[in-house]
Amino acid sequence: MAMDEFPTVPETSPATRSCGIVPLRDAETWIFDLDNTLYPARVDLFGQIDERMRAFIARFLGLDLDAAYALQKQYFNHYGTSMRGLMDRHGMDPSAFLAHVHDVDLSVLDPSPLLEEALAALPGRKVVFTNASVAHAERVLGRLGVKHHFAEIFDIVAADYRPKPEPEIYRLMIDRHAVEPSRSVMVEDMARNLAPAAALGMTTVWVRTGSDWGAMGADAGHIHHVVDDLPEWLAEVAAGVR
Ligand SMILES: [Mg+2]
Repeated sequence: MAMDEFPTVPETSPATRSCGIVPLRDAETWIFDLDNTLYPARVDLFGQIDERMRAFIARFLGLDLDAAYALQKQYFNHYGTSMRGLMDRHGMDPSAFLAHVHDVDLSVLDPSPLLEEALAALPGRKVVFTNASVAHAERVLGRLGVKHHFAEIFDIVAADYRPKPEPEIYRLMIDRHAVEPSRSVMVEDMARNLAPAAALGMTTVWVRTGSDWGAMGADAGHIHHVVDDLPEWLAEVAAGVR
């Protein structure tokens, strides 16, 4: 078996269609996570976002940075996102929070002509499905030089501020964007975020970043393809090599 793929049933078998593994070049819709998926995790935009969350919470609640950080992590663990905890416990306006935390310096992110070429060659509609905001997604896609490939973005606001991997928002996303799961592929760096997608019948692609939290749940049997270099892999799919 190839090092970068788990064994799958041959793609021409009718059985694969019923269990949601679409031949990649036949996919009607490609659903991409944004952060650490469409650009390499080493860029570490989350490091900036994490610091900006801490500063926002400190100012919003009048705490010092250490206390703000403790609360940020406590709410993250309890509510799934720090933002949800701040909304539920303190009546925070999520739009101000999102605007502040995503106001990151994108000069650390290089344009990706390889990703642009791969997306141009890849058949099918492309959608972004992110726990961040549309504004952040549009800035990142613009910086990468691939914004024109994504007509649709489903963000945390569209998800009523509920993050992946809550299963309900995957259903909301496929309804909103008329996605047929059995004809769709979802690409993500957080392995556990692919479980609800596979349960709905989507084909899943895990972008391996080397982080422990990205790998959480990767051995649960819902990963159909494992990828280390997304632009290269997409170009191979587009060329019919995969
Ligand atoms: Mg991600």
